[in-house]
Amino acid sequence: MVEAFDAVDLIRVKRDGGELSTAQIDWLVDAYTRGYVIGEQMAAMAMAILLRGMGRREIHDLTLAMIASGERMDFSQLGKPTADKHSTGGVGDKITLPLMPLVASFGVAVPQLSGRGLGHTGGTLDKLESIPGWRASLTNDEIMAQLAGPVGGVICAAGAGLAPADRKLYALRDVTGTVEAIPLIASSIMSKKIAEGTGALVLDVKFGSGAFMVEQAKARELAEVMVRLGEDAGVRTTAFLTDMDVPLGLAIGNANEVRESLDVLAGGGPADVVELTVTFAREMLALAGHPDEDVEAALRDGRAMDRWRAFIAAQGGDPDAALPVPRETHTVAAPVSGVLERQDALAFGVSAWRLGAGRARPSDPVLHAAGIDLHAKPGDAVVAGQPLFTLATDEAERFERALEALEGAWSIAPVGSPVESRPLVVDRITAVP
Ligand code: URA
Repeated sequence: MVEAFDAVDLIRVKRDGGELSTAQIDWLVDAYTRGYVIGEQMAAMAMAILLRGMGRREIHDLTLAMIASGERMDFSQLGKPTADKHSTGGVGDKITLPLMPLVASFGVAVPQLSGRGLGHTGGTLDKLESIPGWRASLTNDEIMAQLAGPVGGVICAAGAGLAPADRKLYALRDVTGTVEAIPLIASSIMSKKIAEGTGALVLDVKFGSGAFMVEQAKARELAEVMVRLGEDAGVRTTAFLTDMDVPLGLAIGNANEVRESLDVLAGGGPADVVELTVTFAREMLALAGHPDEDVEAALRDGRAMDRWRAFIAAQGGDPDAALPVPRETHTVAAPVSGVLERQDALAFGVSAWRLGAGRARPSDPVLHAAGIDLHAKPGDAVVAGQPLFTLATDEAERFERALEALEGAWSIAPVGSPVESRPLVVDRITAVP
């Protein structure tokens, strides 16, 4: 086979700030997936893209080339609209768990193909696997059957067939310091979501210490690029910019996040988790042609909980089984009375990870009962001696490093101090011309 281009020529073009043509991008992605373009060359290209950026047309071409590297799912035969949600990742972010059954209870199918946690951000599949028997791997036929049937939604692992070029490129970026490039992040996320075949998509683009885009302006730029990619591919897409400086909800971990999700499905739960669940559910339903649904009513009256139970059972789990409990706990109490003013999301995420809730390498197991339960949130008045948070794990030797991660991560202001309350949802970004 005669190759159409030379990888080194293309690297030089991008290194010097030039533009790659559609044919060049198509060839590069295909040749990298085939193994003709080697990892060293793709790493150099990824770094050139990180430093030089890409134009709108190049990002669009890169996304299409990654989609073309694998299969596409097609839900057009389902006879109902589809909507999905993607979060760029955060600490205590369990929104997918109550959201999927809530949206499905209105007759909109939710094909939620999810990932596992890596580093300090948790993974939806890890959380659900704390439910005895629950199975993350489904065949494409099983996914279709579950979406078409009475559950009407699925949360499962994305198959290896979806955007394999992204799988390979993401692993390379992870070890070459090239994750944080907007063209690469946007094409990576959107190639998987477009290949998955959803008709509508809500993006939760997080900023703040616990997000991987810390700066709000960068998160906004990423959101705008992704919304454009979605709309160009015929996927109705809205992005929300949300604050991830403070952990979401009161539970950070796996089994404890399932418990908190059950509270939301039972009509309760922490205000911030409810706010995001309700905001995203309304938007997914509106994009799928169901505006003005009373989503809070479906949480109050048990419809969303019924869907959850059917979903867990359909994937082999027992919705009534006891969730794992930790062997060891360590509670930190307030040293003085006052107002809790800070709770740094990144530090709490790292601490939960060190307790065993997350993994350092993709092949590591997680401890399902490990994590942190918060007993107060910023703005709450606390009295000396009252529990602030509880660390949980199965291996007591993990406490020392987990506590180290929390040094300087929270503080208490004098009694009566005003604490700035920040909005959780900062903006809603729709189709950008
Ligand atoms: N998640 C992805 O799927 N890809 C990225 O590049 C970053 C986050």
